[in-house]
Amino acid sequence: MSLTLSEKALAVKPSSTLAITAKAKELKEKGIDVVGFGAGEPDFNTPENICEAAIKAINEGFTKYTPASGINELKQAISDKFKKFNNIDYKPSQIVISNGGKHSLTNVFEAILNPGDEVIIPAPYWLSYPEIVKLAGGVPVFVRGEKEQGYKIDAAQLQAVTTEKTKAIILNTPSNPTGMIYSESELKEIADYAIKNDVYVVADEMYEYLVYNGEKHVSIASFNEEIYKRTITVSGLAKSYSMTGWRIGYTGSSEEIAKLMSSIQSHQTSNPNSIAQKAAVEALTGDQSAVNMMLGEFDKRRKYMYDRFLEMPYVSVIEPLGAFYVFVDLSQLLDKTYKDEKIGSAARVASILINDYNVAVVPCADFGFDDHIRLSYAISVEQIDKGLTRIEKFLGDIK
Ligand SMILES: *Cc1c(COP(=O)(O)O)cnc(C)c1O
Repeated sequence: MSLTLSEKALAVKPSSTLAITAKAKELKEKGIDVVGFGAGEPDFNTPENICEAAIKAINEGFTKYTPASGINELKQAISDKFKKFNNIDYKPSQIVISNGGKHSLTNVFEAILNPGDEVIIPAPYWLSYPEIVKLAGGVPVFVRGEKEQGYKIDAAQLQAVTTEKTKAIILNTPSNPTGMIYSESELKEIADYAIKNDVYVVADEMYEYLVYNGEKHVSIASFNEEIYKRTITVSGLAKSYSMTGWRIGYTGSSEEIAKLMSSIQSHQTSNPNSIAQKAAVEALTGDQSAVNMMLGEFDKRRKYMYDRFLEMPYVSVIEPLGAFYVFVDLSQLLDKTYKDEKIGSAARVASILINDYNVAVVPCADFGFDDHIRLSYAISVEQIDKGLTRIEKFLGDIK
């Protein structure tokens, strides 16, 4: 016997963004005016009508266990939304409601992976994917969507890394961290690849409502029966309804996978919070004007931030069309010097920015691109202006 720890747990990487967040918090506590571009969540309060529904649920005593995979009323609302917004038919029995999208993703991989199964993750990726896959016994395999490709991957790249062990691919559109969205024709190619190779598509559509410039969100599962069978569509309320703290995510999948996820969940967490489920029903079926207001605000900030970056030296950006992030290429900056030292990495840029200019940004090594940073525009235009002015000052100070 020995007091060793789980190898699986030890293999989980702590998030590198935490160091910046901790530093930003420390500075703020000292009364220093830090501009935080790090947030992965909307700055708006949860809309009033949603909060009211939660209060009503509490007052009416809706505070007990619910079925493990969620209440029927919410499954029906999600099923209707899938039909109307995504053009996908998922019956309530094909829907599992979980404690946030992250939990939904965890359930998906626990339901489909066997030890050693490979999951293809296009980079840049949301930093939790590789860790969630590894915790479920899978092996992440990365393919890079280079900047020239709009940070997106194509079917040929997927094919090139496909092996006997390939079980699934992850597809995140709109993308965190890049803000890119896949077009219908790009998705169709990927769907053909998945059908031909018989792999699952885990479609993370968390930012589906947040698309701009008249673009349209397309769900890969909507194309035909063959891709529908192979896709698990993951979404949630966190980003679109400014409900990050409420913890409601969900999946649409085959009934077989839904049953497995539901059993797993019944032992691990039981139902998602009963009050949050009632609030989610109101979010999906009630007045949508707050969502449209937030979308309009994000769009203004997006344009503002993108235009400012276009004017800056040494950095380059592609116009983001979804989510609420700007992904900034620093490759021309890393050979320059700051205070007589070569800059070197995006992590160093993030550390200089927080320490010397009081601006928090996310270095993207843990998103698979170590020469990029991510800035969220889920903060006010005034804050964005102030923060970007500080970044311009930094760019003026380098040699
Ligand atoms: C925020 C986020 C999620 C999960 O959100 P929850 O807060 O767990 O509901 C999933 N995928 C991406 C890409 C995200 O950015």
